[in-house]
Amino acid sequence: MNIILPKEFTRYDEKGQKKVVFIEDEVLYMRNDVSFKTLMRDLTYAIYGKKICQCCGNEFPANKLSIDHIIPQDYGGPDITNNLIPYCKECNERKANLMPEQHLEYLEIEEKKERSQFVKECIAKNETLRYDTKFSHLNSEEDGMWVRKMRTDKIRGGKERLEYRSEQKESKTSHKQTKYRKVAKFYLKYKNFQKPIIVDRNKHLLGGFVSFTFAKNSKISEVPVIQLQNVVVFY
Ligand SMILES: [Zn+2]
Repeated sequence: MNIILPKEFTRYDEKGQKKVVFIEDEVLYMRNDVSFKTLMRDLTYAIYGKKICQCCGNEFPANKLSIDHIIPQDYGGPDITNNLIPYCKECNERKANLMPEQHLEYLEIEEKKERSQFVKECIAKNETLRYDTKFSHLNSEEDGMWVRKMRTDKIRGGKERLEYRSEQKESKTSHKQTKYRKVAKFYLKYKNFQKPIIVDRNKHLLGGFVSFTFAKNSKISEVPVIQLQNVVVFY
């Protein structure tokens, strides 16, 4: 699938000399040490602007806007521009873990009590989404299938990126272990990954490092993957 990109976006290294991110012929090129997650957020603001909440339509100072996941992270909603949208903090909190169509229905309800009852019912219903190993609820009319299975040993570049990132974040080791335990626990309970792994056109690992490491360690031969055809990692 292709991610949504702004017309232009360029980022330079610290010295301001070399491009570490750029868009050419509608393809996003990113150097391997750029944080994919942060980049997706910055691109989302580049697409929508950093002023207007896309839910209530009101204008906010930049620090009052946040990035909402259209399909909640708890149900596999990935950190790619197609799934990210700037919402004000209030709208973001209110949307909580509702799926997009539930959110629309929610906004139609005026009474407070009725609203909270509706949310409760939705959250209970959504629990089954965690068991969907194909993540079929991530499919969209425009992009079709987002997720497919990919052999774990076909995913490339993970090692280098993992090593680089662990050097950068050595102080956060315990945070990483906590995350790893979370992935393991989730897998044990639902026989699934919480989120699909994200790779670029050439199957370089971009997102889901912890899930990927867990899959490798557990000798899981196939993982759910979103392959971004218009993203290329360079070294
Ligand atoms: Zn809002």
